[in-house]
Amino acid sequence: MPVAGSEIVKMLPGKKPCKDCGYPTCFAFAMKLASGGATVDKCPYLSDEVKAKLLDLLAPPIRLVTIGSGDNAVKIGNEEVIYRHEKTFVHSPAITLLISDKEDDAGVEGKIQKIKELEFPWVGVNLKPDLLALHFESGDKDRFMALVKKVHEATDVGLVLISEDMDALFAARDICADRQPLVYPITKESIEAAIPRIKANPTPVGLRAEGVDALVPLTTRLKDEGIEDLVLDPGSKHLLDAIRDQTFIRRAALKQGFRPLGYPTIAFPCFLAKDSLKEMMAGSVFINKWASVIVFSDFDGHSLLPILVQRLNIYTDPRFPMAVEEKYYEVGAPDESSPVLVTTNWALTYFLVSSAVEATKVPAYICVKDAEGLGVLTAWAAGKFSGDMVGTFVKKSGIEDRVKHRKIIIPGKVARIKGELEDALNLEWEVIIGPRETTGIAAFLPAHAKELKGKS
Ligand code: SF4
Repeated sequence: MPVAGSEIVKMLPGKKPCKDCGYPTCFAFAMKLASGGATVDKCPYLSDEVKAKLLDLLAPPIRLVTIGSGDNAVKIGNEEVIYRHEKTFVHSPAITLLISDKEDDAGVEGKIQKIKELEFPWVGVNLKPDLLALHFESGDKDRFMALVKKVHEATDVGLVLISEDMDALFAARDICADRQPLVYPITKESIEAAIPRIKANPTPVGLRAEGVDALVPLTTRLKDEGIEDLVLDPGSKHLLDAIRDQTFIRRAALKQGFRPLGYPTIAFPCFLAKDSLKEMMAGSVFINKWASVIVFSDFDGHSLLPILVQRLNIYTDPRFPMAVEEKYYEVGAPDESSPVLVTTNWALTYFLVSSAVEATKVPAYICVKDAEGLGVLTAWAAGKFSGDMVGTFVKKSGIEDRVKHRKIIIPGKVARIKGELEDALNLEWEVIIGPRETTGIAAFLPAHAKELKGKS
């Protein structure tokens, strides 16, 4: 639960505004700390004890954990709300592909290729799976080590190492420790022996217990040892139990502020479901029900895409429409006589227009005006796509240096801004009313481009 600034200020030194923290008073600093806008170390007069207490109070209710490194590092946790409509979810679950060391070479190669190649451009973002989970099942340690080495060399993705055999688990960890793998599972039986091995080469740790309550002594023990990058598995045996357990953990962390359960979770549809369809459906449930790492036994493009789109939808901030940057975009290789279109920056609008333009094979410029992520007609109705505003944007966009002609196409639905836009452009541009729908671009644009070329 968030701590109030009025509580924090009681712990600050209260020196007459020394301002060494960069804020005019202790109270101002406390308010900033409470809102996450400042860090404890800015006040040099805090005792170690107070500093530790403040850090504990200000820590996110669900710890941020990073699996992997570099560009492929995956951050999970750090969530603040139970329901997406309350604010937003922050770090989307890591979609993870399982490779068993019992699989043959062709199967392993195939999955490595999948993790490298399965990706889908989707309204300005690239949807793809995140992690590989390597499972020691064969009983042959050398075989497992060979798999870990092979995957480590062949990919840059983050790894989850799964082994009931602690020697194999930590030997595998040492092969790829630079990749910050998640080592799983540490249990009540293995925890004491595991602690020195975790500390010897720290990476995130996956804890498994028989039930949510049995996780508490494990997280508490590891926290006492300074090991806090934890991921929880309550050991649910059925989907219904898993939903109950995930819900319990989330509510305990966020509603009750119960620190021993304030960690991200891992879920295994690969072990819960009996066939691939049910497995993907279970994965879909875990996206909604707060798992932070979701492990699938296999997927292909057809089964993965709906999961990735669902994840995108759930983890998109509902307060802000998806939008693209305000600027002019090039489709193909446009030149000085290519058409110029204008539209708004709602991602869906932009990608519909750019796809329609691309399909005509006519190189063109698309000037995208920031309309706070609204579609064309809504933006106009909301006063964010008036002729004046579009004119100001066109002038500062730099498009005038890219084309010799002075013709700009506006969406047919806002034909009424034509006069105002021509005035805003000092009557130097002719405003052409384009199609009302993007489907009309196919017929409209080639003819317009031909006319421009003819005049150049
Ligand atoms: S540096 Fe510390 S004591 Fe000084 S004003 Fe800031 S919070 Fe108060």
